[in-house]
Amino acid sequence: MSRIVYVNGEYVPEEEARVSVFDRGFLFADGVYEVTSVLGGKLIDFEGHRRRLQRSLDELDMPAPEAMADLLEIHRELVARNEIVDGLVYLQVTRGAPADRDFTFPGEDTKPTLVLFTQSKPGLAESPVAKVGIKVISVEDMRWGRRDIKTVQLLYPSMGKMMAKKAGADDAWMVEDGVVTEGTSNNAYIVKGGKIITRHLGNEILHGITRAAVLRFAREAQMEVEERSFSIEEAQAAEEAFITSASTFVMPVVEVDGVALGDGTPGPIAARLREIYLDESRKAAI
Ligand code: PMP
Repeated sequence: MSRIVYVNGEYVPEEEARVSVFDRGFLFADGVYEVTSVLGGKLIDFEGHRRRLQRSLDELDMPAPEAMADLLEIHRELVARNEIVDGLVYLQVTRGAPADRDFTFPGEDTKPTLVLFTQSKPGLAESPVAKVGIKVISVEDMRWGRRDIKTVQLLYPSMGKMMAKKAGADDAWMVEDGVVTEGTSNNAYIVKGGKIITRHLGNEILHGITRAAVLRFAREAQMEVEERSFSIEEAQAAEEAFITSASTFVMPVVEVDGVALGDGTPGPIAARLREIYLDESRKAAI
């Protein structure tokens, strides 16, 4: 069934949606994005994603689209029109389409491009993968230095996923200066002595909206949290590990570079955090 997507103020069937070949998102990866999950027809942590979008725009001096104030309404309209029960809403803003290809940023007459579409994923929260966990490999982190900005420059993370697939794993953790930065599209965690360890915030990683929520719930549940970097060797010796992202929530990791963690099955802390995160997020969904 054809989707209804949103492009610059209009709701159109996906076949009719058009963006210019001169769009800077297409030519320069000059764009930012957000992915908000939908459970039971409601948006999870919409406000967190809206705020991070504004921050990404500010950091890049990119003008906000005129519809910035209507984003909640647009998300809800797309969820309704496409009858999404479980799934996600993808949003992208680019610096727009000037008359010619030019490295310098265009003037004020070039309006940003705003595109949103939905992806239906029935049973998203009941993923059978969460019961068995995923395997990760390590790859060198070869991305640029402002990973805290959620840009559409996703070629290297995409290559990382392909390297993982080729190695018979599910995903890759990226390593820089001997320590893990994050997963290709998620934040990375280990558990040691019952303590949850995840890299501190900075320009080296995306400030995950799920990360912020999970750490808050963990602290509220009296779990110990330490924000610091860790190496692959430390991860391989950990009791358990997991990742977080808007579309995987909390997902256990059971193997790192071919070494099974603990008994090779998802650990109790990851399982508990997943349950708390899903419960609380469903309650707060709008
Ligand atoms: N790190 C990277 C590199 C990501 O691409 C993502 C997901 N977009 C995350 C972390 C997780 O962020 P969030 O919890 O906001 O989805």
